[in-house]
Amino acid sequence: LVAGLDAGADDYLTRPFHAQEFRARLQAGCRIIRLQERLMEAHAQLYEQATRDSLTGLWNRTAAIQILDREMARAARGETSLAVIMADLDHFKTINDTHGHLAGDAVLREASHRMSSMLRKYDSIGRYGGEEFLVVVPGCHFGDSLTVAERLREAVSGEPYSVGERSYRATCSFGLAWCDGRANSDAGRLLREADAALYAAKRNGRNRVEAD
Ligand code: GH3
Ligand code: MG
Ligand code: MG
Repeated sequence: LVAGLDAGADDYLTRPFHAQEFRARLQAGCRIIRLQERLMEAHAQLYEQATRDSLTGLWNRTAAIQILDREMARAARGETSLAVIMADLDHFKTINDTHGHLAGDAVLREASHRMSSMLRKYDSIGRYGGEEFLVVVPGCHFGDSLTVAERLREAVSGEPYSVGERSYRATCSFGLAWCDGRANSDAGRLLREADAALYAAKRNGRNRVEAD
């Protein structure tokens, strides 16, 4: 008995076999399985709540930074490149002030959806702040990551946003920082460089991509 339980058995029956006892023990087993399923569901829900932004469905800030750290380590180990794109919607306060916060929320959601549907599955996009986004693009040459940023810009600004009966225009500015896995960079530095490039994009007229 001890050896059997030690080896991983959850339960046992002794001879002679009684069908009723067997059924009762199976019921106990089923209860344990249901409990485990509920635990796994709760775990998945908590994971979702802890890592996702509830308005846009994108990664939240904490998860986005974790992804950046992980990709940074992967790039250093594999000696591949990594690009970070910081994006900030242009004059977003005006959209809120003119059309209301709910319209602003709808535009935020739609812009997020447009950007994330542009990306490859290895890329990640998170909501970094109110109307700011962090995009992590691994394994791209500098030129290709510029193309990614340009595609994101076009996705946000290309079509108007319909909210209810009305439609709005929105644009976004992008700052790109790129590093080679062989260079000894770190996530903080890359973020600062992307932020500086974003600031330059704002200063140079908005609705544009600048690279550090
Ligand atoms: P800039 O082009 O310089 O970025 O101008 P801006 O108006 O976008 O910049 P600012 O940082 O002054 O304003 C950001 C605005 O974004 C302010 C805030 O009301 C709005 N915002 C932030 N988070 C949310 C949100 O979750 N929903 C809505 N509707 N608005 C938000
Ligand atoms: Mg803004
Ligand atoms: Mg902002």
